[in-house]
Order: sequence, then structure tokens, then C-alpha cells
Amino acid sequence: MELKDQALIVTGGASGIGRAACLALAEKGANLIVADFNLDGAEAVAKEVGALTQDRGGKAFAYKVDVSKAEEVEALVEFAVEKLGTLNGMFNNAGIGLVKPFLEMDPASYLKVIEVDQHSVYYGLYYGARKMVALGAKGAFVNTASIYGSIAARGSFNYNAAKAAVVSMSRSGALELAEYGIRVVGVAPGFIDTPILGDDPAAKAPLAAQHMHNRLIQPEKVASVVAFLFSDAASAINGSTVAVDDGFLSFKV
Ligand code: NAD
Repeated sequence: MELKDQALIVTGGASGIGRAACLALAEKGANLIVADFNLDGAEAVAKEVGALTQDRGGKAFAYKVDVSKAEEVEALVEFAVEKLGTLNGMFNNAGIGLVKPFLEMDPASYLKVIEVDQHSVYYGLYYGARKMVALGAKGAFVNTASIYGSIAARGSFNYNAAKAAVVSMSRSGALELAEYGIRVVGVAPGFIDTPILGDDPAAKAPLAAQHMHNRLIQPEKVASVVAFLFSDAASAINGSTVAVDDGFLSFKV
């Protein structure tokens, strides 16, 4: 149990990559706060985790949060310490997309994605790290970036900018927090089979073709990397962003 008794927060835990990460982290022994805008979904995942870990008395609590609001992320961190007794890190993962041609990318559409996908990661690092340092707790932050943190997708000026910032914040967060025994790393998924991609198979096929295995990646494949990144086995991975993209960034179809 590499993450035995680690107290971790997962944002966007109600669905997709976040849900799969909750299950993988709990399987390695972590206790969790399943945080999401969608409280019903978070409660369902907390229940799933509870069932998976009842033999060892594992803990999982659902929490409703809008990660784009600083004060709500601060309150989430307080809730975690109240329920779990300490804090050893966060999976800053909640995110959205909003695709529009650039000439229609008005400030509201731009800022919506920047606030949810980018500012949320700063809030998580800031409030989470301050609390951990105050408690003398060690651990790690894992931040969900994207392949579009390195290259651009058409129609996603907002998303590309936010995810590039997540790659950068993972680097500078690592630099600032290493002296406190806190690592910060990013994970950059390719096309993962989650609700964020919609449910039109015709739209998904060209995405799958961007991968070496010509299929979408299952969220469990990202979750197992995330669980590894939180563990001591990954203690030499610091500030970098790890691609889980089935070769997307390495080849051209
Ligand atoms: P998903 O839609 O299944 O899950 C996203 C979760 O985030 C949902 O449960 C949603 O309720 C929650 N959320 C959205 N806005 C929120 C807010 N303001 N506050 C709190 N929770 C909020 O999608 P997913 O694919 O699991 O996405 C998880 C992360 O992975 C996102 O950051 C996304 O950008 C990133 N990502 C996904 C893919 C992919 O292909 N699926 C690829 C690269 C990166």
C-alpha cells in the first residue's frame, strides 16, 4: 500500500479521469476528498471508494466545490484537514473545454476556461501548500495538463493557454515547494474516453487515430500514472509533466 494513510484531495472526482484516479489512489491506501461541482456524482464516487476500501476502514468524503473560486478551494482544503486529519496533496484535475473559432473567442469564453482550468490549479497549489507547510505535512501535487499544453488545438485558444500554464505552474510550483518536502508534477493526457469528448462516435474516431494504438485511452490508464506520481516510487519526478498520450506527441499520422 504505497499511499497508506495519505490524505489526498481529488478535484473533478465525480467523473472520467478524476473518478478513475479516486479508485486507483484508494486502492493504494489513500484516504480521499472527492471534490466536484457535481455533488451527486462526487457522492456516488465516494460511495464506490468506501465499498472498495471497507476492509481497511478507508475514508472518502464528497465535497461540492467550484474550483474557479479561490474562497471555495480554500474551504475545500479546510474541509479535507477537518475530515482526514492532515493533507498530503491534491490532484488538481477538474477542467472544461469550450471550443470556438478564435474570431469568436470573446473575453467571457476565454476567461471561463482560464478560470476553471488554470486559476484552479494555482488556488489548489496555494491553499493546499500553505496548509501542508503549516501542518509540517509532506506529499505531492499532481496537476492535469494536456497534450495541448505543448501544442495547439484549433478552436481552443483558451484551453491551450490554460494547459500551457498548468505545465508551467507544475515546474515553478516544484521549484518553490521542494524545500518543504512537497513535489509538484503534471500529467498530460492524450484523448481519454470520458464525457468531456461527447458521445458522437464519428467525432471520436479521428481522435483515436492520433494514438499509436488507434483507440481512445481509458481513464484508468491515466489514473494508474497519477497514483504512481503520488507515490515515493516517483520521488525523482519533480516539476515535469508526464505525457499519457499513446505516442500522440511523438508521431504524425
Ligand atoms: P470529465 O468531464 O469526465 O470530468 C471533469 C469533471 O470536472 C466533472 O466531474 C465536472 O463536474 C468537474 N468540473 C468541471 N468544472 C468544475 C468546476 N468549476 N469546479 C469543480 N468541478 C468541476 O472530463 P475528464 O476528461 O475526466 O477531464 C478531467 C481533466 O482532464 C480536465 O482538466 C481535462 O481538461 C483534462 N483532459 C482531458 C482529456 C480527455 O481527452 N478526456 C485530455 C486531456 C486533458
